[in-house]
Amino acid sequence: MRVLLVEDDEVLGDALNQSLINAGYAVDWAKDGRYADHALHDQVYDAVVLDLGLPIMDGLTVLLRLRQRKIEIPVLILSARDGLDDRIKALDIGADDYLTKPFKLRELEARLRALIRRANSNTSNFINAGALILNTSERIISANGKMIVLSKREFGVLELLMLRNGRVVSKEALIENLYNWSEEVSTNAIEVYIFRVRKKLEPYNIRINNISGLGYMLENPPLETAKNE
Ligand code: CA
Repeated sequence: MRVLLVEDDEVLGDALNQSLINAGYAVDWAKDGRYADHALHDQVYDAVVLDLGLPIMDGLTVLLRLRQRKIEIPVLILSARDGLDDRIKALDIGADDYLTKPFKLRELEARLRALIRRANSNTSNFINAGALILNTSERIISANGKMIVLSKREFGVLELLMLRNGRVVSKEALIENLYNWSEEVSTNAIEVYIFRVRKKLEPYNIRINNISGLGYMLENPPLETAKNE
């Protein structure tokens, strides 16, 4: 999951950045509105955390320009306590939710999860893909009731394959889901993660198919319903 964080306050921005990274997101941090606007042109994000009071271009303008391009990714607004008018404007323009400063990081994470879940049409914290179950709040993936131990990167790979179950996921999409601007990107690394995840899925008879030239796709066996003893 890749999130754009837009916050000009260094201290708050740093805390938010760390907390989102710890929660398992790949985070790009923009410190002014124009930078955010460019990022939203160039990148595909799963969600945006958007401060309203920003240098160069304010948050409302960033949001307006995003919605004018008919891009429907979830946007969570951060606003000052006395910013009622701005909050109402933001919601009218197409913000999905807002938080008033100061707020607890745990609440931000929970609201973000809820927004991403809704955007992916999931009504609960659980995503099913055949025998696999992803608990998005605990960030645990299990198969047949057993937790699969995964590194953060491996988790990111399997998470995206599960979210797009039944569809091909390109290497580029996996890279975007795992890395932010400040990290080196290599397609070899993706192959390594795929290799490791495959090994971990082997005992459950779940495969990751290589669709030549296009990317990867989960292949789940039918759920074991009436297995003969
Ligand atoms: Ca600000």
